[in-house]
This record gives sequence, C-alpha cells and structure tokens, in this order.
Amino acid sequence: MYPTVGQRQSLARTFGCARVVYNDALTMRKAAWKTDRSRIPTGVLAKSVITDVKKTDARSWLGSVSVDALQSSIRDLDTAYRNFFDSLSGKRAGRPVSLPRFKSRKDKRQSLRFSRNGFRIRGNGKLNLARIGDVRVKWSRALPADPSSVTIVLDPSGRYFASFVVDIEPDHLAELDTEVGIDLGLTTYAVMSDGTVVDNPRFLRKAEKKLKAAQRALSRRAKGSRNRAKARRKVARAHARVADTRLDWLHKQTTGLIRENQAIYLEDLTVRGLARTRLAKSVHDAGWSTFRRLLTEKAARYGRHVGIVGRYEPTSQVCSTCGVLDGPKPLSIRTWTCGACGTSHDRDLNAARNILAAGRADRLNACGGPVGPGVAIPRRARPVETGTHRNAGCTGRKPRVAGAAGIPVLQRGEDVTRR
Ligand SMILES: [Zn+2]
Repeated sequence: MYPTVGQRQSLARTFGCARVVYNDALTMRKAAWKTDRSRIPTGVLAKSVITDVKKTDARSWLGSVSVDALQSSIRDLDTAYRNFFDSLSGKRAGRPVSLPRFKSRKDKRQSLRFSRNGFRIRGNGKLNLARIGDVRVKWSRALPADPSSVTIVLDPSGRYFASFVVDIEPDHLAELDTEVGIDLGLTTYAVMSDGTVVDNPRFLRKAEKKLKAAQRALSRRAKGSRNRAKARRKVARAHARVADTRLDWLHKQTTGLIRENQAIYLEDLTVRGLARTRLAKSVHDAGWSTFRRLLTEKAARYGRHVGIVGRYEPTSQVCSTCGVLDGPKPLSIRTWTCGACGTSHDRDLNAARNILAAGRADRLNACGGPVGPGVAIPRRARPVETGTHRNAGCTGRKPRVAGAAGIPVLQRGEDVTRR
C-alpha cells in the first residue's frame, strides 16, 4: 500500500489506539484471572475499554479513529487467548503458543485489522479504510473471493501491506500417480528420489557483504539521531530484500513439486534444534520450515499429500536397494557401496529413496492397506549420525505430534499471504 503523508499519520494514530485498546483489554483479563479465575466476555471488555473510556479525558482520543479497528483489536486478543488454551489442551497443532503479550510502541512491526464493515474496495482499485480514506494499492493479485477482513501491516523497513482473509474452495488438481521423496540438506538444497538435485541458493550468504556494510553504518550513527533511524531502516530493507527473494524462490519450488507429484515425503527435521548450533545462519537461510509449511498448505489446497517421515528413520544408513542397515556414515562420505548387495549409492539420493519408501509405508498403514515389499527400514533406531545433517543438535526429545498423522493442517480462514 502507498498511503499519502496524511494517511500515514492517520494510520499511525490508529495503530496506536488499537494497541492501547489491546493492552487495556489484556490488563483487564489478566486482573480478572488473578482475582477469581474468570474470563471477561468480549462484549463487556469492548464496552469498558472502548465505549466507556472514550468519554473520559484520558482516553478521549480513541474517538478519533475507526471503532471497527478497535473492536478488531479486542477480537484479536480473544483469538490469541483461544490459541493459547487450544495449544495447552493439545487441540491446536504446532509449537506451543504462549500467553498474549503486551504490544509496544517500539515494536518493529505494527499492525491493525478491519472487519468487513471497516473497509471497501473502490472501482478504481483503491482501498477505502474507515477514518483513513482511499489508499493507493499495488495489487499483487486479484482477490479470489470477497474478503472477510483486512490486516494492515507496517513492516520494519517502512513498507505498508494489506493482507486479506479470503475463504476459498479447495482447487483440486487432476490426480497423478507420481510420488517423490525429498532429502533436504545444506550442501545441496534438496535431492529428490528421482535424482533431481536443487542447488542451495544461500540468499543470506550472498547478501552478507551488503548487510554488513549497512550494519556497520548503523553502528556508527549516534543513538537517537535521525540518521540512525535512517540507517536502521536501510538495514531492515536489506534484510527484507533477502527474505522476499527467499520466499519467492520457495514458492516457485513448492508450487512445482505440488503440480508434478501426488504425494511428497519429507523428513522431520529438527529445525529448532539445528538453529541453535553453529549452523544456525545456514539453517535459517535455507528456510526449511517455510518450505514444509508452503508444501503442506498447497497440498491441502490442491488435493495433494505431504507426508513427514519420523526423525529417527536412519535414512542415510539403509541401502535403498536391498534394505540392509549398513551402519553410520560420517558426513564426509558422499558415496558408499552396500556391503550386502554391492550397489553404490550417492548418500543424498539414497536417503531420498528411503524417505520415499518410509513415507509410502506410513501412508499405506494409515489407509489400512498392505505394506508393499522393500520396506525394511527398522523403526525407532537410535540416532547415531552426527554432523551438519539431521540429528546434529538434536536433543533427543520426541517431536510434538501435530494432527492425526503428525502433519499440521491448514487452518480454515488463515491469513492469505501476500502472494
Ligand atoms: Zn544393498
């Protein structure tokens, strides 16, 4: 979005008011919980932190912004609490959700939301926001259906985005009989069971020189100065460029995979564990979690299957031809010959084939069908492999089970991304 100077000021005011309302509501809910473990209903909450306080001198300025944005703010708090409780009870998949936190004026990313009553899309393509006006928008794509809400985001590099929630029908593609296993790595990004190799683009590594220069310039500026703010924005922009390029690349990769395969199998990588090792930068740069999330989302949308193979399958130790466990192999060994059947293997390709076999077996088991031959991977073997791959940095904890088959499910009504 490209708001004018005036619109930017109105937006800043609305960001601020929405934040105050959110924080006031959170304070009230926390207090109520402390005194008698009660939950204040949303309506009551809205009345006391919006309608009533607007009449007081201390909060009269809440009247200068759209009430819809303020109400959305309270609904967001409600959702945050629901996510927390659902996560606690195990109803919600994925990593644990923490309690809602207070928002700050200094948060790098500011956001607010309008419900259907708070915005309109004009015939000329402008986005009309309540009490802000007609904002110029460069549409990344046409909206597939009538949106139910819009979130306005100001990112750390000073860009404005409008993100719409749109309900869409799944758009199932014609069924295929191709399946693929993927071995993700850092040397090469991915090796597929059919032999395709995807190089690691290393976006962050490539941009590091520029980033470092920007960072250095920032560190030289005096604290609190205007030039420092400018330099900070420059750093944020450089980071945003890396993130955008990476996301774009990941979208292209995942879309291609979804189009060409009915089922895609991946290994359950301990990304969070790996991200604490000295490989952290490379692991973040690879964006494996995003790769997996995009695949899962697109699979749900286009009627494909994504299967995650357990973390303890020794996919690089088993011969994909005869199924014999050949023992641990240090990472330096890129090719090896099976002692039992004499097949020579490329390490990653062999792993990809094993992932395919294990994924297939899991899927057939889940469907109650028979397990085909050639599935001889011993389950729940101890992780012995160390190095840059898989089990490095693994704490040995069991992964949290997400969804019935350990696969996160796309939530209905989830924010449609900028794509
Ligand atoms: Zn063999």
